[in-house]
Amino acid sequence: MRALMMDSQLTILSVMEYAKKIYPETEIVSITHDHDRHRYTFKDAFKRVSQLANALKAKELNIGDRVATLAWNDFRHFELYYATSCSGLVCHTINPRLFPEQIEYIVNHANDRALFVDPMFVPLIEQISNKLVNLEHIIVLTSEDLMPKSDSLNLLCYETLIGRESTEYTYPQLNENDACSLCYTSGTTGEPKGVLYSHRSTILHGLASMTPNAFNISNRETVLPIVPMFHVNAWSLPYTCVIAGAKLVFPGNKMADGKTLANLINEEKVTFSAGVPTVWLALHQYLTETKTSVESLKRCIVGGSACPLSLMDAFRDNHKVDLQHAWGMTELSPLGTMNKIKPQLDGKDCSELDLVRVKQGIPLYGVETKIVDDVDEDLPWDGEAFGKLKVKGPWVASAYYNQDTSTAHDDKGWFDTGDVCTFDKHGYMQIVDRTKDVIKSGGEWISSIELENIAVAHPDVSEAAVIGIAHSRWDERPVVFAVKNEHAINETDLLSFYDGKVAKWSKPDKVVFVDSLPHTASGKLDKKVLRQTFAGLSLE
Ligand code: AMP
Repeated sequence: MRALMMDSQLTILSVMEYAKKIYPETEIVSITHDHDRHRYTFKDAFKRVSQLANALKAKELNIGDRVATLAWNDFRHFELYYATSCSGLVCHTINPRLFPEQIEYIVNHANDRALFVDPMFVPLIEQISNKLVNLEHIIVLTSEDLMPKSDSLNLLCYETLIGRESTEYTYPQLNENDACSLCYTSGTTGEPKGVLYSHRSTILHGLASMTPNAFNISNRETVLPIVPMFHVNAWSLPYTCVIAGAKLVFPGNKMADGKTLANLINEEKVTFSAGVPTVWLALHQYLTETKTSVESLKRCIVGGSACPLSLMDAFRDNHKVDLQHAWGMTELSPLGTMNKIKPQLDGKDCSELDLVRVKQGIPLYGVETKIVDDVDEDLPWDGEAFGKLKVKGPWVASAYYNQDTSTAHDDKGWFDTGDVCTFDKHGYMQIVDRTKDVIKSGGEWISSIELENIAVAHPDVSEAAVIGIAHSRWDERPVVFAVKNEHAINETDLLSFYDGKVAKWSKPDKVVFVDSLPHTASGKLDKKVLRQTFAGLSLE
């Protein structure tokens, strides 16, 4: 029997229309290249969104066309999110930290017709523009007086382009399964792959991520998304906060600048933020050096890479900020799990709770999860057995954009995340490793992440990566690559730091001190490059 409920479409337009009516006065504050602190309301923002939608139409962009952005977290990027998706275009956010050849590949692969760039990325586009085959329009996110000069490019000015347009726009009726945005994976293995989000997947993900068991965002919050809008829609915060009516504070290109972040948090009374561990490290260092604090900040989500317990403790003990672990990926829009302590764990002592706090968390409703062994048999949730993490759900990618292989999932409909993990009996997932990074030694698996977490817990180590190095007897043995902070530390000190923390056979064989470690465009350790650099290292 079919139900008799309305079939309203879950579209980004419905989010904008709701916020226009219910939260017109909610503020958006941004740092941009041309404003120390730009400030306006949802009402003002959505008027400019309509002006931009008119400007896109005037350029004869049609429903389904891809519009690329190379931009920081600020109000103009926010306007692009809404103007493109609400008018049926696909907002293709590009990570400016990718290599120029990768950007060229992505723009061509997506067949982007227009590109909106922050002025600082114009030289980057000049380098590759003659290879961008279908690109027709390049619009610089600035005003006429600040337009950069270019000999090779025909640049249009954003403010001039939208300034002459009407603040009224008749948006098309879209289907909730239409595409609204596109983001490419970082492509550490092979070419980057496009994940094409739908209006429906974005709204369902946004609703799930604002619930109390996830980000817990209401109209009382002031939210600072430090996660970039160029990577997985800033973990959906530009949508979630608009649904919730929460004030948005955008840091522009100052995402790793501890001083700017601390000032923004204190002056705008930010209560909630989200970012990768390196962001929190930068803020922590600044607050420690200046003996200052962030009084209004209550909770931060940390994800993208494993967060060391020492960093969570530092924020809790020194600043009363709860750093909560989350896990996700581009293919999951991105949120999959979130670490909230269940009431069943109340009363456990600190050391037991610490073992839970470092885990990546409990799956959200909407993300079905399982761990499997090499022959795809389910493994128990006992906190010990670890295997490949597979997921399913309405905000998980089912295929990659314009890819030869038609699906991203196995024949039973499960997406293989490429992560290896455990689940404990309470449902907490812990990442043990990436499938390709796990170290195989004498028939046992060793987690490189566990060994990295121990290394960075040493007060004299600021960053560490662990990889397996070939060994004639054991197949592979773990080696730590560590960056020292200003204090002296030697190999024996660091190796003895592992005593009692891991089984003897999984203790690293060697430490190599390096000045810095390679990172991918999204800030993760790039172990592929590390392996190439130290390909000749021998343990014999
Ligand atoms: P991306 O698609 O670039 O966002 O990368 C997703 C990958 O980042 C995941 O598959 C994990 O390997 C890793 N990742 C994300 N969040 C965490 C976390 N909290 N702890 C450890 N690894 C994480």
